[in-house]
Amino acid sequence: MVVKKVKRLLDRIKNGATQAKKTEEPQTKLKIIPRDSHPISRKDISSPALKVLYRLNNSNYQSYLVGGGVRDLLLGLHPKDFDIATDAHPEEVNNLFNNSRLIGRRFKLVHVLFGREVIEVATFRGHHETPALSANQSTSSEHGMLLRDNVYGTMEEDALRRDFTINALYYCVKDFTIYDYAGGLKDIEKREIRLIGDPEKRYREDPVRMLRAIRFSAKLDFTIAPATEAPIFELSSLLSNIPAARLFDEVLKLMLSGNALNTFRQLRHYNLFGQLFPSSEYSLKKGPERYLKLIEQALINTDERIKQGKPVTPAFLYAALLWPALEDQWEKNKSNNTPPFPALQQASQKVITSQCKSTSIPKRFSFNMKEIWEMQLRLPKRSGNKALLLAEHPRFRAAYDFLLLREQSGEDLDGLGQWWTDYQKSDEHVQRGMTNKTREHDSRPRRRKKRYSGNAQKPPQ
Ligand code: ATP
Ligand code: MG
Repeated sequence: MVVKKVKRLLDRIKNGATQAKKTEEPQTKLKIIPRDSHPISRKDISSPALKVLYRLNNSNYQSYLVGGGVRDLLLGLHPKDFDIATDAHPEEVNNLFNNSRLIGRRFKLVHVLFGREVIEVATFRGHHETPALSANQSTSSEHGMLLRDNVYGTMEEDALRRDFTINALYYCVKDFTIYDYAGGLKDIEKREIRLIGDPEKRYREDPVRMLRAIRFSAKLDFTIAPATEAPIFELSSLLSNIPAARLFDEVLKLMLSGNALNTFRQLRHYNLFGQLFPSSEYSLKKGPERYLKLIEQALINTDERIKQGKPVTPAFLYAALLWPALEDQWEKNKSNNTPPFPALQQASQKVITSQCKSTSIPKRFSFNMKEIWEMQLRLPKRSGNKALLLAEHPRFRAAYDFLLLREQSGEDLDGLGQWWTDYQKSDEHVQRGMTNKTREHDSRPRRRKKRYSGNAQKPPQ
């Protein structure tokens, strides 16, 4: 333990010396804001986060609340989670807490678990270019992207390795001061998102920072500083180097933040939406106006549900975001003489497979998306006991909501949405009358089904 600490101290001195030689790294002008000059109080911080901070401090490590926790408290918001930065190495943190686990490869972190609350503890990161340390583990790709970032450093270096100035504020529970290395407080006052260091270089290191800039700008209603904004238009294609699974997570963070509509508009403005959803962007540009209306209405509804604390399923969200591409592909398949249902099945398979190259879609969601889409063809068929069976389907509610969305966006479905609304409100007797009336609508000649001999599954009965 003592040997490790001495080694860390020597590392720090060495880091300090190498940093002094570097000119391209942003220079810090540390400001320490005393307790009486800021509004953060310990009672705003969750007790699990406080426990982790105190345990680390009592074990002679430095520990600070950092990132969104400090930023959001300064803005009078409820932080989504609490992140902690420390000079203890991940293994040391892991040894201190029984309820913790080591995670991540690109960034080694520790998660300390308190029931459903997870406190993320990260060790101070150092400069990855420092030659003395590069033999360690930090590497970058041909595009300048950081592949690993497990080089440890001082708190000051850690601050400059963070993305935006407003995310590089540290709150200390020992003396209740805030450490501001990058001018974050000033930017909070100005309500600006500003990357630390050279924007182009920072985006190349991690292109996801472009999405994070949009996310924070939409969430906090901040503007993006001109120099931070300018490179995004040209660098948006760098997102193609990011693993699809990470982008799926980022899409959910973007769209489930309660500001999805604003986020979507900004993503399109910066050419980022097309990177995330290429086929939908193509259809949005070429297709009818109602495509855009459908997506925007879905996002308005999503924001509303989040405000009301209702759950939102990624399957519904993705079903809406990909509907323009799906409908285009479906039409294309039908125009090749494929009957509607197999044409829809083939289209959904194709659209999902191609989307997974950009952002992955876990199977449980893609399965539900297909059901929501396929039920659009089943909802018009209501005669006999079909309506009853449909209404009991686990995906009925989502499919019905989706149907309403299509109508709201301007598709003429012959009053089908209203029919289903009335049906759900009615008693059994009225429902029977309603389904009898629809008999002429959806009874199809049996011969037609027999004639189809394609490879795809049979149409729904
Ligand atoms: P929120 O949790 O509200 O979404 P946050 O700022 O806490 O916002 P996290 O993703 O939890 O965001 O990350 C915690 C902190 O880690 C950030 O505030 C930032 O300082 C740093 N960070 C996260 N992602 C990056 C990145 N890609 N590049 C540099 N720093 C990052
Ligand atoms: Mg956070």
